[in-house]
Amino acid sequence: MKTVRDAAPQLADIVPYDPKYLPADIMNSANENPRDVEEQVKREAMSAARRVSLNRYPDPLANDLRDLIAEANGLDRNQVLLGNGGDELLFNIALAYGGPGRKFLNMPPTFSVYVNNAQLTNTEVVNVPRKADYSIDQEAVLARVAQGDIDYIIVTSPNNPTGELAPEDFILKLLDATDALIMVDEAYFEFSRTTVRPYLAQHENLVLLRTFSKAFSLAGVRLGYILANESVIRQFMKVRQPYSVDAVSQAIGKVIFQNRAKFEPRIEEIISERARLMEGLKATPGVQPYPSDSNYILFHVADAGQVWQKLFDGGILIRDFSKSKYLEDCLRVSIGTPEENDAFLAALRQIVQ
Ligand code: PMP
Repeated sequence: MKTVRDAAPQLADIVPYDPKYLPADIMNSANENPRDVEEQVKREAMSAARRVSLNRYPDPLANDLRDLIAEANGLDRNQVLLGNGGDELLFNIALAYGGPGRKFLNMPPTFSVYVNNAQLTNTEVVNVPRKADYSIDQEAVLARVAQGDIDYIIVTSPNNPTGELAPEDFILKLLDATDALIMVDEAYFEFSRTTVRPYLAQHENLVLLRTFSKAFSLAGVRLGYILANESVIRQFMKVRQPYSVDAVSQAIGKVIFQNRAKFEPRIEEIISERARLMEGLKATPGVQPYPSDSNYILFHVADAGQVWQKLFDGGILIRDFSKSKYLEDCLRVSIGTPEENDAFLAALRQIVQ
């Protein structure tokens, strides 16, 4: 055939995810940890990977890792599920709780992957936009939820790309207001030092999403997990790919998780650099940063697209949201090492002066 028939109709409006991850001297665009895993831990992880029998299928559920994560969180194995990055689990929530005739409540601007997954699964997206300061429009969300037809909701806390935590009292109100599944996406919770995990015991409709990609310097490996009650985990199990978490990732993930205390000083550094970068941005003429509880800062600047290009031409890659809905003239910079943050600030000042 010289032709191929059309793909599924729901794909028509979908643009493949493109993080515009271009090579640069300073890569502060993807909210990664600026430092690789420290040498000794990396060596241990690599030697664990070396011992993996590559000819054998992995444990489908990564039970060793489940046990480690469950124990650290005071939960049982059956309240934890691993995924191929948090991204897989975000797809799984749409597969398990979305679908034709079902609805996802979204609070834009937020992580764009949520809407893509809803579209792929023919789930209707009900948008309740954030306020001008990017705080959640709590009254509007609660009013919409009261209609009773929402099937799942994702509350990103801290929110990406805007930076702030969702108020805990709002999450609690939401959990009581509906039996929709409420995912609290805590991909960045190590930088906010805040979690709603204690509420899992009382709320059957709560699920938390976490990742190894940020605080644990492991974006290259692809490991994420959810914490939830057993009934919810069982639904996620039905839709997941049987071997989505490969044996090498499991081996490396175990070593990293067992050594998680060693990542603390780096997390501390990111938190203190965040404060320093925030002050630097505030002191830069024409630049308005938004508050951040995470490892990145969103800021508004005139002609943001051009500012982004000039930074990139100077070897500094950050994330350009200037043409995204609700984020006009906004850029997002991930917190780097002190040297990277200094170089970024110096370059930005040169550009906007
Ligand atoms: N949630 C949010 C809010 C994110 O920003 C990201 C990473 N960009 C993820 C989930 C998924 O991360 P990963 O797939 O690397 O675990």
